[in-house]
Amino acid sequence: MGERNAFKALIIGGSVGGLAAAHELGSVGAEVAVYERSAGRTEPRGAGIVMQPEVEMLLERLGSSARSVGVLLHERQQLHFHGKAERYKAPQLMTSWDTLYRALRDPLTDVCYRLDSSLARVRVEGHDVTAEFSDGYTVRGNFLVGADGIGSATRRLIDPAARPAYAGYVAWRGLESESRVPDDLLELLSDRFTFFGSRGMQMLCYLVPGPNGELEEGARRVNWVWYVNVAERNLSRLMAGRSGEQFAHFLPPGELMPGTVEEVGAQADSSLPPQFARLVRLSEVFMQPVFDLPPYRMVADHAALIGDAAGTVRPHTASGTSKAFGDAAGLAAAMNGWTPSKALPARGLEEWEVRRLAHLARLSEIGIELAVTSSLGVANGRQFFDSE
Ligand SMILES: Cc1cc2nc3c(=O)[nH]c(=O)nc-3n(C[C@H](O)[C@H](O)[C@H](O)COP(=O)(O)OP(=O)(O)OC[C@H]3O[C@@H](n4cnc5c(N)ncnc54)[C@H](O)[C@@H]3O)c2cc1C
Repeated sequence: MGERNAFKALIIGGSVGGLAAAHELGSVGAEVAVYERSAGRTEPRGAGIVMQPEVEMLLERLGSSARSVGVLLHERQQLHFHGKAERYKAPQLMTSWDTLYRALRDPLTDVCYRLDSSLARVRVEGHDVTAEFSDGYTVRGNFLVGADGIGSATRRLIDPAARPAYAGYVAWRGLESESRVPDDLLELLSDRFTFFGSRGMQMLCYLVPGPNGELEEGARRVNWVWYVNVAERNLSRLMAGRSGEQFAHFLPPGELMPGTVEEVGAQADSSLPPQFARLVRLSEVFMQPVFDLPPYRMVADHAALIGDAAGTVRPHTASGTSKAFGDAAGLAAAMNGWTPSKALPARGLEEWEVRRLAHLARLSEIGIELAVTSSLGVANGRQFFDSE
């Protein structure tokens, strides 16, 4: 454990990566404060998360356990259009963004967590770093952590040239209360990690805890993800929200245009096994395009980037959250013992950056290989949702 309140860390972004950073930096003696752009935490966000060791480790240190926030599945199954599903034993714990968010947020009641705080500017002066937010609020600290996701404002300030590139496919998603899913479908899907693949698309489904972390039968949610190749020229049409807002990285539930809802349903009917098509039809669909942000740099003067802000991995490795947690743990280890009166631990930060960029590059490569096996995001791959 480090010296109490050795330095003040300003954490930009209060999602799972920012909260992991708050715990990790707090554990080496930093005073932490979190600044989150969203006005409230009631809006629906990321859905299912496959439990990974880095997440389990942090939960255990917080006195919680992976089992207490996860739905345990026993098998994997591959669906086919015709014939029986193939099944094999593969136990796996599944959680959800909101359940994990609460498990990390609840123990931080004494930490400043300011909502409606969108980072606008960063200034470094001597030992201090000042963050300015778009509402005019200003705060001074000693170190700034950018955990503000794929559209990171912190990254734009540190490295204006780095831009995420569309990977050529989107994830249509659904997260439905199991009580809304017919019994025969639930019988097929619960207790199993279910897959379907065909050229240019892949769908997967598993159960996750209920909206308040419920794990008991009847109260959980069915989470599905349907990856589909979509040409970039069709993105802005599909990401146009019903409310009039044009979305860039995430189209929330309830925002699909009526025509898009119909298009998604019709495409599901014609290209998915009937069980998955029914699931899509009964869901309030939302969407995330998949982007690549190549690993480049994570450290700047009195600032560091973690999680998706530092670089994204394709979702097929199910490791975005665990990567963010690993980034946060390594950053805290590098900063352990630092006080603002000393020079920054440049060597430790550099070693952390090299190690984590190499890890990110490995995960990115594996994710791209996995996508290619389903012809996702490949040149001349089969395309869907083409209006031309
Ligand atoms: C289809 C899909 C499926 C996925 N499945 C999985 C999975 O199974 N397992 C897994 O581990 N990962 C998965 N991921 C990846 C995972 O969602 C991310 O890697 C993870 O959420 C990264 O967390 P983060 O805290 O770095 O960023 P985010 O969760 O994106 O959080 C960034 C936060 O910063 C805030 N913010 C943004 N800009 C500002 C600003 N200017 N000022 C202040 N705050 C700001 C945002 O509001 C947000 O709360 C998936 C991703 C996709 C696209």
